[in-house]
Amino acid sequence: MNGLLPALKKAGLTTLANYNHCRVKMHHSYTFEEVAVLFGVHKNTVAGWVKKGLPCLKQRKPYLILGKELRLFLQDLRQSKKQKCKADELYCMGCKKPQKPMGLMVDYLPINDVKGRLIGLCECCERPMNRFANAGQLDDMKRHFDVSIE
Ligand SMILES: [Zn+2]
Repeated sequence: MNGLLPALKKAGLTTLANYNHCRVKMHHSYTFEEVAVLFGVHKNTVAGWVKKGLPCLKQRKPYLILGKELRLFLQDLRQSKKQKCKADELYCMGCKKPQKPMGLMVDYLPINDVKGRLIGLCECCERPMNRFANAGQLDDMKRHFDVSIE
């Protein structure tokens, strides 16, 4: 508990809601330690994020996390902390809350082999809405939505 941490705590940067993904450089790769320092968290917290689905490159040590993946993950984390979507809802940026997509129709856009986005149109304001999803959850999604896979 020295160095950066007290200053970060004072600034309120150690609470989850304040992980600012904008601090992450898109085209930079980070070690767990670097991510930990960036957000004033313990290295184990970063390892926990990887367990929760943050992709990392494990070909050699130290493991590296791509900036763009870290950004997406933190945005996702922040969003899911804020307001949890129900199984048949997506987050609407227009309404700023989870809503049902029109006709329960969504498109699945893969980001990589395991992760993707669900895109739909809000039945309330007709604006685009989205939610991150794992490819492994697709069968489950299909029970709630009419899913088209792009
Ligand atoms: Zn809406």
